[in-house]
Amino acid sequence: MIGIFGGTFDPVHNGHLRVAEALSVALPFDELRLLPCGEPAHRAPPQAHADDRIAMLQLAIEGHSSLVIDKCEVRRKGPSYMVDTLALLREESGGESLVLIIGWDAFAGLPTWHRWQQLIELAHLLVVQRPGSVTAPCDEVQQLLQQHQTDDVAELKQRIAGCVLLLPVDVVDVSSTEVRARLAAKEDVSERLPVAVSAYIKEKHLYLS
Ligand code: ATP
Repeated sequence: MIGIFGGTFDPVHNGHLRVAEALSVALPFDELRLLPCGEPAHRAPPQAHADDRIAMLQLAIEGHSSLVIDKCEVRRKGPSYMVDTLALLREESGGESLVLIIGWDAFAGLPTWHRWQQLIELAHLLVVQRPGSVTAPCDEVQQLLQQHQTDDVAELKQRIAGCVLLLPVDVVDVSSTEVRARLAAKEDVSERLPVAVSAYIKEKHLYLS
C-alpha cells in the first residue's frame, strides 16, 4: 500500500511532517511518498526552485524511514495534474493499493481538479480532517462520499482503489504561506520548521522577499 502526499512544499514545515507521521501510525503503508508539485495548475508557481524544495524535503525526512520523495511531477513538463501522476503510478505499481492523501478543504473542492472523477478509479482517497475543517462539500462530492466512503482501514489494503476514508488528525497550525511571510519579514520560524530546513533556508538566502 503506497500513500501519496502531494503538495508544493514551499517550504516543507512541521505541519506536513505531523500529518505524515500520524498517517504512518494510523495506516499500514509500505511506503509514504511526499510528492512535490512541479507546475501547480491552480495557484501561483512556487517561490523556491524545485531543486531547493526537494533538498529541503530530503533534510526533513532524514530519520523517517517510511517516507520517500517522489520527483515525477517536477521532472514532468507542463501542469502537474494529479490524475496523470496517479495513472503513471498505477502503471508502475500494477496491483498495489494507492492512497491519495488530501486535506478536507481540497476534498470539498475536488470538482475543480482536472478529470477529478477518474481519481477514485486510480486510487483511494484518504481525507485528512483538521479540527475546525468547516468547508461544506458540494453535491458532487457528497455523492462521491455516499458511493465510496468506508470506515474500515483494512479495505484500503484489500482493494487497490475506490474507497474514501475520512481521518481526523491533530495537526500543527502552520502553513508555508505563513512561513514565507515570516521569513520575508525577518521573523523567527524555528518552531515551524525542522532545524535542518531552517539552516538550509538561511544558507541559501531563500524567501527573503
Ligand atoms: P501554502 O501555504 O503555500 O498553500 P501549505 O502549507 O498549505 O502551503 P502545501 O505544500 O500546499 O502546504 O500542502 C500540501 C498538503 O499538506 C495539502 O494537502 C495541505 O492541506 C496539507 N497541509 C499543509 N499544512 C498543513 C498543516 N499544518 N496540517 C495539516 N495538513 C497540512
